[in-house]
Amino acid sequence: EASKSLNFIEHIVEEDLGKGFPKDKLRFRFPPEPNGYLHIGHASSICLNFGLGLTYQAPVNLRFDDTNPAKEEQEYVDAIKEDVKWLGYEWDTECFASDYFQQLYDWAVVLIKQGKAYVDSQSSEEIAAQKGTPTEAGTPSPYRERTVEENLELFEGMRNGKFKEGEHVLRAKVDMSSSNMLMRDPIMYRILYRAHHRTNTDWCIYPMYDWTHGESDYIEQVSHSLCTLEFAMHRELYDWFLDQVVDQELVRPKQREFARRNFSHTVVSKRKLLQLVEQGFVSGWDDPRMPTISGLRRRGYTPESIRNFADTIGIAKRDNVVDVSLLEFHVREHLNKIAPRVMGVLNPLKVVLTNYPEGKEEWLEAENNQEDEGAGYRKLPFSRELYIEQEDFLEEANRKFFRLKLGGEVRLKNGYIIMAESCTKDTDGNIIEVQCTYDPKSRSGSGTEESLRKVKGTLHWVSVKHALKAEVRLYDRLFTDETPDSHKDKNFLDFINPDSLKIISAFVEPSLAEGNIGDIFQFQRMGYFNIDKDSKPNNLVFNRTVGLRDTWAK
Ligand code: ATP
Ligand code: MG
Ligand code: MG
Repeated sequence: EASKSLNFIEHIVEEDLGKGFPKDKLRFRFPPEPNGYLHIGHASSICLNFGLGLTYQAPVNLRFDDTNPAKEEQEYVDAIKEDVKWLGYEWDTECFASDYFQQLYDWAVVLIKQGKAYVDSQSSEEIAAQKGTPTEAGTPSPYRERTVEENLELFEGMRNGKFKEGEHVLRAKVDMSSSNMLMRDPIMYRILYRAHHRTNTDWCIYPMYDWTHGESDYIEQVSHSLCTLEFAMHRELYDWFLDQVVDQELVRPKQREFARRNFSHTVVSKRKLLQLVEQGFVSGWDDPRMPTISGLRRRGYTPESIRNFADTIGIAKRDNVVDVSLLEFHVREHLNKIAPRVMGVLNPLKVVLTNYPEGKEEWLEAENNQEDEGAGYRKLPFSRELYIEQEDFLEEANRKFFRLKLGGEVRLKNGYIIMAESCTKDTDGNIIEVQCTYDPKSRSGSGTEESLRKVKGTLHWVSVKHALKAEVRLYDRLFTDETPDSHKDKNFLDFINPDSLKIISAFVEPSLAEGNIGDIFQFQRMGYFNIDKDSKPNNLVFNRTVGLRDTWAK
């Protein structure tokens, strides 16, 4: 929209354009590491980068930052692609940092030849011990002054598998007294005998993040490389590595940082999400309680609702926690527009209409969605025995209870006005059936005077004979604490909510037999529900996406 105000990253781009940077040279990238599934935090980065692409009509690459074969897998690459596409974005080029391994190696050789990189043969502990402190210079490695010839030979040996893991590393020769600790001769390569999901066993040395990221941006000619704040200190090194290779004729990528998003009552770190999966706290990466894109999709979230949420929270310069109820607000808002209304009774209580003829049934006309004129109508069966919600009946209640009570009237949605006459209890005193009479002239839409009669309450219901039994999965927050991973003395797993999943058996109207996996409905008065992938033709399974109201609001 033209009226939309610019975020601070867009201001940076605008400023660059103002200084003469050619608009047709703008290029962005979203750079996930394929070590897990994307989560709602990534959605912010995706919407930012692909949003810039749309704003400036510039290409956006999908770059897999795949330099750590110990943690990365093809499964994750596939899942990430599916999720980005599902969110509604199209990347220009699919790129892999691993495609640049040879180029990165060749550049490392150039650095060695220029005396700007050396092979260090100390252990990682020794190297760490020499780093110094921010106020005290580090100690140069005894191998720092190795000759170019010796470094070239050792580095080639590393690449050719002549050494064991940990025996040598390649370090950039930068500045052991820099106030930025990351500049104190950072490691560029380590030896790792691990098969890579794309390069297999071609390599037994792998480049480190800092050496890889900026050079990958440069190879792809990314103009603006956006990352989260924890990389702010890395920018100096990013620039130093670029200085070694940049050609004046080409675009020099620019790193800029924005704040990582955290969300209340959940964790967004692939490492922690993996723990939830591996330790069985959830059924998988796409468990509907997970804050992953695939979990949200399975739960019934729409791409629109996630994009609107990301747009609303925007991007920030400081870390902060976003309340997940804002995400719930956005899905509710979207589903209210698009979800067909149906009847589903979660906690059934039988109602018998004593004056309705036995054996009779009729098919009522029901509007699918009053918010959407094109949604049309469907037929809804009505008969002598119905289910209503247990909580919708009380023997006695005060005047503010607008549901069913003895001697009181309610309208059955799309059907008739009924009056409760008596009820039956089991030996424990639980109400198991309510006997009612119905007003035969009061059918909704029939045009009679009685059909227009106003009664205070309207209830949802299903016909006992026609209802389908369905499994309904009700979800609560996965963690009881608002910020489960912010406690020094406790592990985030200590805050797992033991009641985050409740499975109940419900009755739903028969039209739902036609539904497909993923279809989303509003069960009138009860919330939004979608058909889960565990559904079978004779055994429908629904997830509750979200209730109709924010039950967490005070
Ligand atoms: P994780 O700890 O979940 O593995 P990460 O930053 O290591 O996070 P990447 O796969 O490297 O995950 O992330 C790809 C991009 O998404 C990066 O640019 C990263 O900064 C961004 N990103 C990741 N998590 C968030 C978040 N919570 N908020 C905003 N951006 C994020
Ligand atoms: Mg990362
Ligand atoms: Mg990570």
